[in-house]
Amino acid sequence: MNIVLLGAPGAGKGTQAAKIVAEYDVAHISTGDILRAAVKAQTPLGLEAKSFMDAGELVPDSVVIELVKERLKEKDTEKGFILDGFPRTATQAVALATELSALGRDIDIAIAVAVDSEVIVERLASRRLCRNCGYIGTASDASCPVCSGEMYQRDDDRAQTVRNRLDVYEKATAPLVEYYRGCDLLAEVDGDRPVEEVYADIKSMLDTLN
Ligand code: AMP
Repeated sequence: MNIVLLGAPGAGKGTQAAKIVAEYDVAHISTGDILRAAVKAQTPLGLEAKSFMDAGELVPDSVVIELVKERLKEKDTEKGFILDGFPRTATQAVALATELSALGRDIDIAIAVAVDSEVIVERLASRRLCRNCGYIGTASDASCPVCSGEMYQRDDDRAQTVRNRLDVYEKATAPLVEYYRGCDLLAEVDGDRPVEEVYADIKSMLDTLN
């Protein structure tokens, strides 16, 4: 099962992707996580990506496309994958379709998680992540409820950067919802509900594919 997860920053893609990966046998490909790890390790990729990420801009298509192409060559993606945060531009969507067809694979579903932008701004302001296990929580989590690790705020979750990320989303990424509708792959879910309710809808969509 090959899944694309679409949605604005803070729509809950990461949270839902973690639940999908825990239940279905698919590889989790989060370009944001890969880029953040590269920034932390100060690799050439990380050094190139950092200034774009800090400003809430998209990392250039060529860089991200190459990264995903390499990741899709790894064996664990053959059983299925979930792309979380990719594609984010029309160029990336076309490159993905081309690469998958070269690999003899297809996207089975593109799930768009819809959340109002005012809700997103509030969510991102209070979003905190666990430094140890990556758990996504809120400012009310003094420590990670899963592993007791330290919670931190992403640099790009600060107010000014968030506004830019939402603008970038509207301009570059939101049109992909129509792109995937046109490909007859789109499934939409209302993300402005409790995590478990959103997941129940996603699960029933995925179970119709199995
Ligand atoms: P995310 O964790 O998905 O919100 O991504 C964090 C940041 O990484 C984004 O604001 C971009 O700067 C960069 N990024 C992640 N995925 C992509 C992508 N598909 N294309 C371009 N930049 C990306």
